[in-house]
Amino acid sequence: MGLIVQKFGGSSVRDAARLKNVAEIITETYAKGNSVVAVVSAQGDTTDELIEKAAELNEMPSKREMDMLLSAGEQMSSALLAITIEKLGYPVISLTGWQAGFVTSSAHSTARIRRIDTERVQNELSKKNIVIVAGFQGVNRYDDITTLGRGGSDTSAVALAAALKADRCQIFTDVDGIYVADPRKVKNAKKLEEISYDEMMEIATLGAQVLLNRSVEMAKKYNVEIEVLSSLERKPGTIVREVAKVEKMLIKGVTKDSNIARISIIGVQDKPGMAHRIFSSLAAKHINVDIILQSIGREGTKDVSFTVSKGDKEATMEILNDILTSLKAKEVVCDENISKVSVVGAGIQSNPGVAARMFEALSEANINIQMIATSEIKISVIINEQEADRAVSVVYQQFCD
Ligand code: ASP
Ligand code: MG
Repeated sequence: MGLIVQKFGGSSVRDAARLKNVAEIITETYAKGNSVVAVVSAQGDTTDELIEKAAELNEMPSKREMDMLLSAGEQMSSALLAITIEKLGYPVISLTGWQAGFVTSSAHSTARIRRIDTERVQNELSKKNIVIVAGFQGVNRYDDITTLGRGGSDTSAVALAAALKADRCQIFTDVDGIYVADPRKVKNAKKLEEISYDEMMEIATLGAQVLLNRSVEMAKKYNVEIEVLSSLERKPGTIVREVAKVEKMLIKGVTKDSNIARISIIGVQDKPGMAHRIFSSLAAKHINVDIILQSIGREGTKDVSFTVSKGDKEATMEILNDILTSLKAKEVVCDENISKVSVVGAGIQSNPGVAARMFEALSEANINIQMIATSEIKISVIINEQEADRAVSVVYQQFCD
């Protein structure tokens, strides 16, 4: 018996049948003597549909009005879920984000949770109510509704679990846990029983769409144990928590990210301060740079290459073309036909064989590596996009089969 926060994503509540299924999960948990707080996303594609509706009327709607609009999606699903649970004969109440005490920064559409005043939720729990909370939303200090950014309900759930000191935070979704590699692409990919926060954050960043990175960051900060599991099958999922260091290094993820582009500045003058000039110009425009590679200077010039997300490609090219003469560089070129394939696992850095084994698998598959980056818990390579799925398979087989 304890206090359990359960989060249900859009696909888990997309229609009446799914709502009934979720109502059963919640009431079963409650009937076992637990206090239950459920955080819900908008049904199915509601959020996208609302965005489209707004776009038909105004191509540049204000963020404030968009927050007003999008928050309605979660408000609908939380009321519908409460209505479904009422029908099953359980005491239940649904609350909007602000009723549940979510106070956020003022930035519309990308608000950060500042604090959660849990009084109302606690009050309802003490009255033995099941509490349904609309995810993804809060209120800022001007009493305006804000939203937390796409996928933000994960963050709502983890933050609420932390604020309530819940015993468990379960994230129900349409996959039954975290897999070492994408099970749709790699046959018999292994499901993990548990994974550490740091590993999970890498995997989330590298493009696995299971948990929002920000929610894992928050879980780590407040030490909230998360379980990722399916709302459609009743079986244990994957636990995300601080895992005690194990001697044996295990690969926890083989991932690919194709949403990247490589930018190369050719013929940069080989003198101090150039890298600073390049990357501070990009940082000033909030462009995140990932892998950086600089060639050795030759005849007074060098080439600097790095990757950015595809969405930042145009802005990056523009900024660099503006400073090209001050770098005395020849040209800037961009290649979008690339992917990043990574292996993730705590302890990779202290296991020198891992990189060699990864490169061996790629070499046997005749896949050319364009760039390499390593960190404490991952090794990434940049390769041709067409070869990315094959690369994930051969690397997975090398380590996990
Ligand atoms: N409904 C929002 C979205 O689709 C928030 C969420 O689902 O977590 O992004
Ligand atoms: Mg959604």
